[in-house]
Amino acid sequence: MSWKNCSRCGKAYNWIPGNRELCTACIKLEEDNFKKVFDFLTSNPAATAQKISQGTGVELKDIYRFVRENRLRLVKTDALLRCESCGVPISKGKLCDKCMKNLEDEIKKEQDKYRKNHNIPSNSDRNYRIRRNNQTGSIERERRKNK
Ligand SMILES: [Zn+2]
Ligand SMILES: [Zn+2]
Repeated sequence: MSWKNCSRCGKAYNWIPGNRELCTACIKLEEDNFKKVFDFLTSNPAATAQKISQGTGVELKDIYRFVRENRLRLVKTDALLRCESCGVPISKGKLCDKCMKNLEDEIKKEQDKYRKNHNIPSNSDRNYRIRRNNQTGSIERERRKNK
């Protein structure tokens, strides 16, 4: 038994290994939402996520979560850019503002950890750059090129 924060509402709850990372209240809510979306799609098979959201009152991000979890397949997808991380529609780039911010926080945390583990004083930042390797996802230290 361990405490986790619900990935939907953020509340701490008792997580049982193997279960979804949602608290009981959110699981219940999601099941209700899923049923609503499913029923709506049964009578409107070509509805886009936007239409489903309008028709059911279920938030877009919850609909995209179902799609991500492969519980739902949308016949028609809206011709919009989507955040590569959470799937919400975005107007530019690859990530929505929220995921971008999360990624930045995460990278910053890893940078601090890296610095600590390798005894790199933060004032060495001028000579080195710590960045995430997009291919491997690992944090690397790179000497800045002299201009
Ligand atoms: Zn929750
Ligand atoms: Zn996102």
